[in-house]
Amino acid sequence: MKKIVIIGGGIGGLSTAYYLRSLKNKSKENIKITVVSKRRNFEFTPAFPHLAIGWRKLYQISVDLESTLKKFDINYIPQDATIIIPEKNKIILEDGKEEEYDYLVIATGPRLMMEVEGQKEYANSICTSSHALKTFQNFQSFLENPGPVVVGAIPGTSCFGPAYEFILMLSRELKKRKINIPLYFITPEPFIGHFGLGGVAESNKILSQELEENNIKYFTNKKITKVEANKVTFEDLEGSKEEIESKFVMLMPRFNGPEVVETADDKVANPANKMVMVNKAFQNEEYKNIYAVGVVVSIPPIEKTPIPTGVPKTGMMIEHMALAVANNIINDINNDPTRYTPELSAICVADIGDTGIGFFLSSIQKPRKTELYMKNYFLHHFKTVFEKYFLWKIKTGKITPLFEEKTINLLFKAHPIYKIEK
Ligand SMILES: Cc1cc2nc3c(=O)[nH]c(=O)nc-3n(C[C@H](O)[C@H](O)[C@H](O)COP(=O)(O)OP(=O)(O)OC[C@H]3O[C@@H](n4cnc5c(N)ncnc54)[C@H](O)[C@@H]3O)c2cc1C
Repeated sequence: MKKIVIIGGGIGGLSTAYYLRSLKNKSKENIKITVVSKRRNFEFTPAFPHLAIGWRKLYQISVDLESTLKKFDINYIPQDATIIIPEKNKIILEDGKEEEYDYLVIATGPRLMMEVEGQKEYANSICTSSHALKTFQNFQSFLENPGPVVVGAIPGTSCFGPAYEFILMLSRELKKRKINIPLYFITPEPFIGHFGLGGVAESNKILSQELEENNIKYFTNKKITKVEANKVTFEDLEGSKEEIESKFVMLMPRFNGPEVVETADDKVANPANKMVMVNKAFQNEEYKNIYAVGVVVSIPPIEKTPIPTGVPKTGMMIEHMALAVANNIINDINNDPTRYTPELSAICVADIGDTGIGFFLSSIQKPRKTELYMKNYFLHHFKTVFEKYFLWKIKTGKITPLFEEKTINLLFKAHPIYKIEK
């Protein structure tokens, strides 16, 4: 019996657990899959902006982990892992108990770095469900006495999509309520729609136009340096400062790896960002039985920008990582040296109420076989339907049904994983 322990019950952790389960029959030894997560629900993160505006309730985007995982014979421990001891093949849980593993998959998501002065105190966040719910409350109070709004991202941010989605949703919500106030978008990206990806097809043109049509004044190549109760300060590349009056602020933070990754040694945690260092097979080079999936994986920026930006790790990329890792673990068990690597394709859709904006990339690395950026009404429905579809996948354990794989392959000529040639 091989014990596979997965830390984290988000998209990365559950996709890995489900892929491993689907590959069980290929394993020469029995496997026991354990998911460790104090958060008792799977939550659909892409709907957090909607939670913050009040367009969704938490129960609509959550799935109970214990009862769901039980159905699929996946062991569940409702605690956080606090320490990883790679040389002893075990983790320590919050209550001090130990959990041994033959293979460990780290899928904890990020630690949110609220590192700009005043960000923690005065800026809202939508990166966790509790942050999004607090932002919803603050938004309700703000509506009683509205004023200028600042939305944006701090230097080093890798997740820009939700910031764009949030300000465009917020502009719709304010329009509906006939509230006319100044809206500002401040980003370290060198141009609108860069996304830490060097742009995607016509992302700059479409997204700039969308911001302009909604009277959202934007600033690029900017470094937010301070957030106060009534203003946001930022600098340009030459270091000259500007201040904007603000009544409501939402900023995307930079992501680091969480504390538990740091407890494994610096052969696991990248000293620069504490994320898990992996090779192309998403396997740690020093401890070959440790893998990582999701936002916690250390991926270098794909291009240097004047103010640092990171690479986004989106849902589809994460599912591909999970599929590659599940295959590699089963191959390890079978003593098969074949290694898989994920294609890292990305589909990202922002539902902004009356329309949708989204992109597809066959791979985040350039040159790309396919790259599309679109705005149309269909995408608004697509995201709503996709949310329900994804929650269905989590509830039924069907992480990537064949028809999904075939459709993506047919439409975009993208494959989830491929063999690493020696
Ligand atoms: C606001 C927002 C919107 C996004 N929208 C989209 C989108 O529209 N489309 C898209 O493709 N991508 C989107 N993303 C990016 C990405 O898909 C999500 O961030 C995704 O949730 C990442 O999955 P993950 O499993 O890596 O991490 P998470 O979803 O963060 O899951 C990590 C899990 O690990 C648990 N955990 C953490 N530490 C421990 C520990 N020590 N022990 C045990 N468990 C632990 C956490 O509680 C959590 O349950 C969005 C991201 C954000 C922040």
